Amino acid sequence: MKEKYDVIIVGAGVAGLNCALHLPKDKNILIICKGTPEESDSYLAQGGICRLQGEEDYKSYYTDTMSAGHDENNPAAVECMIKSSPDVIDELISVGVDFARDADGKLAATREGGHSKNRICFHKDCTGKEITTKLMQAVTKLKNVEICSQTTLLDLICSENECMGAVVLDNKSGCVKKIVADYTVLATGGIGGIFQHSTNFRLLTGDGVAICLKRGVAVDHVDYIQIHPTTLYSPVKGKRCFLISESVRGEGAHLLDKNGNRFCDELQPRDVVTAAIKKKMEDDGTPFVLLDMRPVGREELSSHFPGIVERCAEEGYDVFSTPVPVVPAQHYFMGGVRSDLDGKTTMRRLYAVGETCCNGVHGANRLASNSLLESLLFAKRAALDIERNFVSENPLTTEYALNNAIFGDYSDPNGLLDGYKLTLLKSIEEAKNNVR
Ligand SMILES: Cc1cc2nc3c(=O)[nH]c(=O)nc-3n(C[C@H](O)[C@H](O)[C@H](O)COP(=O)(O)OP(=O)(O)OC[C@H]3O[C@@H](n4cnc5c(N)ncnc54)[C@H](O)[C@@H]3O)c2cc1C
Repeated sequence: MKEKYDVIIVGAGVAGLNCALHLPKDKNILIICKGTPEESDSYLAQGGICRLQGEEDYKSYYTDTMSAGHDENNPAAVECMIKSSPDVIDELISVGVDFARDADGKLAATREGGHSKNRICFHKDCTGKEITTKLMQAVTKLKNVEICSQTTLLDLICSENECMGAVVLDNKSGCVKKIVADYTVLATGGIGGIFQHSTNFRLLTGDGVAICLKRGVAVDHVDYIQIHPTTLYSPVKGKRCFLISESVRGEGAHLLDKNGNRFCDELQPRDVVTAAIKKKMEDDGTPFVLLDMRPVGREELSSHFPGIVERCAEEGYDVFSTPVPVVPAQHYFMGGVRSDLDGKTTMRRLYAVGETCCNGVHGANRLASNSLLESLLFAKRAALDIERNFVSENPLTTEYALNNAIFGDYSDPNGLLDGYKLTLLKSIEEAKNNVR
């Protein structure tokens, strides 16, 4: 690791990787990630990624996104995302992503809750792994990009309103380093690790968001947290909840109560289905409801959802013969570091992309399979904006950065990180109380 880079990207999920891929090849780029490169939620995405199905689909896709988001979405961001979706998919195909195809060789499309038609591209039930692996392969080939895993962002190197790099912890040696960069991109993903029940990797604790709160960078809607209706119920507490993709319901699976009766329309947006499940659990006094995948059919279950079938079997459930217990869990963060459509935050030289940022595209509730798309698109747009800045702005010197930054105390990195979790939880509580 050097003392100075042109760009530091914090996070190696789809947002961080796609940003790196679109930055100029003559710039030195450092990507850091907190755990291994595979420990990003991008690897976990099952259902797929949305793609506009021709011009005639625009109005319907737009309306679905806005309705799921309770019309609190930023219309410009939604328009930009939907119109760019075919290009995003084409770019993924060009780096080798293998999406399912129909008998005519056209991209196959599945459906999830809140969508009024099939428009989700997928690779079995491991679309995120397929996309992230191919992006990682493409980034690894770039000579100008260095990837450091097991390296944790502790703080930004910044003056009052200018970011000049990152203070990072080498998890293995325990050393704290200051790395200067002309531009810093936060792609630190979601916040599920601060909750007891979440589908997210436990290490995703919203550090980027908490650091922005501390450093006075604008953060929006910290209380906009999406709960996924269907994760596999486990009596064991504190472990990552296994998600059962919405597209299983999109392909016909039913939600049943303890008496085997359906109790809601399974294809409504996530918040509506979650509320129906919670009410049913309360009324019935049960810790879960049931998901019956048998209506999907053996062949479709085996070919489209092999990972889900396998995981349920590991937990002792044969999905071909019996419904499985499911329970809602924290899943996605719609709030985050305020950013514009080019990923710019309110701090100079600082960008935020992917789930960490809030550009308003999801409003108060994300429509299923819009997040990989959003992360990829706006990360690319941030890269292009940074490229423009290199032309118009002077580069930073290490001396200037280190002399002008306001540093904190980094003698207890783990204590600092624990403090960030508490900061975030507190600000979520405050935001909830302000709404009430
Ligand atoms: C189980 C599951 C299924 C999903 N299914 C879908 C789906 O089908 N379709 C869809 O569109 N979306 C889906 N999502 C959501 C989607 O996967 C994420 O929103 C998206 O991948 C976020 O990408 P990202 O790059 O912003 O963050 P991530 O992929 O989560 O990457 C975050 C990165 O930040 C790093 N990081 C975090 N904190 C620090 C720190 N302090 N220092 C250094 N590095 C740090 C991590 O190590 C990681 O590399 C799913 C999510 C989950 C959990």
